[in-house]
Amino acid sequence: MAYTHNLGYPRVGARRELKAALEAHWKGQLSAFDLEEAAREIRTANWRRQSGLDLVPVGDFSLYDQVLDMSFALGNVPERAEACQGTVLDRYFRVARGRTAGDAAGVAAGEMTKWFDTNYHYIVPEFTSGTEFTLHPQRILEQVDEARDAGVSAKPVLIGPMTYLWLGKEKDGSDKWGLLDRLLPVYVELLGLLAGRGVGWVQMDEPVLVTDLEPRQRDMFAGAYAALSGRGVRLLLTTFFGGLGENLDLALGLPVDGVHVDAVRGREELPAVVDRLPKGKVLSVGIIDGRNIWKTDLAAALDVLEPLDARLGDRLWIAPSCSLLHVPVDLDLETDMDGEIRSWLAFAAQKLDELRLLGRALDRGRAAVAGELAANAKALAGRRSSTRVHDPIVKARLDAIEPSWGNRRSPYPVRSALHRRRFGLPLYPTTTIGSFPQTAEIRTARRQYRAGELKREAYVQAMQDQIRRVVSAQEDLGLDVLVHGEAERNDMVEYFGEQLRGYVFSGFGWVQSYGSRCVKPPIIFGDISRLGPMTVEWITFAQSLTDKPMKGMLTGPVTILNWSFVRDDQPRSRTCLQLALAVRDEVLDLEKAGIGIIQIDEAALREGLPLRTSQWREYLDWAVGAYRIAANGVRDETQIHTHMCYSEFNDIIAAIADMDADVITIETSRSGMELLDVFDSFSYPNEIGPGVYDIHSPNVPEAQAMVDLLRKAARHIPPERLWVNPDCGLKTRQWGEVLPSLSAMVAAAKTMRTSTVIDV
Ligand code: GLN
Ligand code: ZN
Repeated sequence: MAYTHNLGYPRVGARRELKAALEAHWKGQLSAFDLEEAAREIRTANWRRQSGLDLVPVGDFSLYDQVLDMSFALGNVPERAEACQGTVLDRYFRVARGRTAGDAAGVAAGEMTKWFDTNYHYIVPEFTSGTEFTLHPQRILEQVDEARDAGVSAKPVLIGPMTYLWLGKEKDGSDKWGLLDRLLPVYVELLGLLAGRGVGWVQMDEPVLVTDLEPRQRDMFAGAYAALSGRGVRLLLTTFFGGLGENLDLALGLPVDGVHVDAVRGREELPAVVDRLPKGKVLSVGIIDGRNIWKTDLAAALDVLEPLDARLGDRLWIAPSCSLLHVPVDLDLETDMDGEIRSWLAFAAQKLDELRLLGRALDRGRAAVAGELAANAKALAGRRSSTRVHDPIVKARLDAIEPSWGNRRSPYPVRSALHRRRFGLPLYPTTTIGSFPQTAEIRTARRQYRAGELKREAYVQAMQDQIRRVVSAQEDLGLDVLVHGEAERNDMVEYFGEQLRGYVFSGFGWVQSYGSRCVKPPIIFGDISRLGPMTVEWITFAQSLTDKPMKGMLTGPVTILNWSFVRDDQPRSRTCLQLALAVRDEVLDLEKAGIGIIQIDEAALREGLPLRTSQWREYLDWAVGAYRIAANGVRDETQIHTHMCYSEFNDIIAAIADMDADVITIETSRSGMELLDVFDSFSYPNEIGPGVYDIHSPNVPEAQAMVDLLRKAARHIPPERLWVNPDCGLKTRQWGEVLPSLSAMVAAAKTMRTSTVIDV
């Protein structure tokens, strides 16, 4: 009997009910009681969707973030939130968001960062040498009771102690690993309480086991689990987002009752796992991809599972590879989606149907589910042979790529001399990152155009009016390199995806990004090519309004790839190269149309880095290679910019330099240019625009503060290679903030020009 279970279910609700409830609560329009009620309804619906599984996760639901829930359960709440008046829920939202409904002052929100290599962001636990833990088990116990009352066979989910520590950050330079001994008794106490509730199995999430662990951390694992074992519940140690690699024996050897492995990303490792699994231990095989939206090849999955079933018997469990938090909720809502493409997909609810089906096939044989297997095979065969997936022209273009396509014709010094002559820019040239405020007016025009309420002509008119406004504002401000403002873009990936063959968009394919915030990643299903020029009409119109250089604005292939659901029938690198060719076509069209400066944003290049450093080289090689194909086909006279929304690239600086962009703009203001220290040990060869003010804040920066930052930057980078720009695009800001901020920025650049002497 193969045992079926799930690791976690999306909690936003099929129609983002949680988002609506949270935001109403924060606005003071929904009481805490009603918010909890809405949450209860979502949990109930989720459990219903998971019925028929042998074990259902409980405690995976969260009002904001499961890591923050764990911090509260462990009594690890930052003092600044403890000090505030109010209920536990108020304190919870204070840490999550800095304030709660009706807060006058607020406190600093907890830092947010990415959950492993996903686009989910968690609230970073904060530690000091004085951190003490005390158990606050109410939330998890209530959910266990609630599940029991609903007749659910509950498996509480906890973040394991090692992963919890790994995720957090020391605020005082102390060593967080020293806290393990204080942490374990609280886990022990919690396990005891769960045992008292009659809980059989507890899921201990330890995804850090798929990362590079230090020897000391590996040693601590053994000690930690020795302390947790034998507490009246059985422990399922769950690992996901990759194979275990050199941590395999460590994971299998821990004193737990079962181990879950990611058999999608760690498929090749599975035979070794089975061989080395200690007698008596359960093996949970994560056979359904929890990170992507494709139907599982059920026959292929059974080919893997059947021998395991024969060997392990009831010690074999099956599950999705990881929590389904990272996929949309329910494909059945996608009634407007192209039927053929929809037949290739599975969202969270459908993935559980697949799981139940695999369970039945293992128990009763394939013949018992022959109809379902045949339907699955038919859908997959359709996808494999579809002419909408496979475009021979794209394939031929890919095969014809020559390595020289990734290279500029001349090296940077030659190019920069040409650029100086062509653009005649002053020292410390000023520019922005691309977008200007997205006003209600702009959004309305876009929405009406989409809905067919606004004719093409009227829409173009509305966008051109915006471009006129943005261009004249920039001229008044005295900026040197202008942008058109991106009014026509809802999103920097979706805008391009909609103009590419090979993309499909869902109506309800929301995935939680953080708190109430969801994203709807577009889906790449087929070979990519442009339907036609994507940006040329807007950029050339903008250029026609001014004598200053207009910067063409594109999203790069790596970022488009990393922010989409991607094909699983070819390597990511190949999909990326297809995107690169499409972007390259656009770059060359812009150049042909007379645009002299083109920016290709690679906001998401860094976040695509694999969890294992041993795999970085390979990723960076193909990612930077694809960017270069996209960017470097231009003449020497054309200036290429790229932009990245971070600057922690000490570890990848060589790869960044290898992109050979003439100018790179990066985020640095929040760190006070500290992040530029890397340029002391690595001499970056081209031009840089370190962001001089933080666009995430409504504050208007002082010119002097920016001068100070620029002076610091000039210590690391020669002044003749420095640009002056904000940290990122301005689309989330108001005009009332943007104008004074940019005016101060231009003033700062002027101050720098008059006070800098260049040795020639
Ligand atoms: N060009 C984009 C903008 O200005 C860049 C956005 C980003 O880097 N996230 O909005
Ligand atoms: Zn940015």
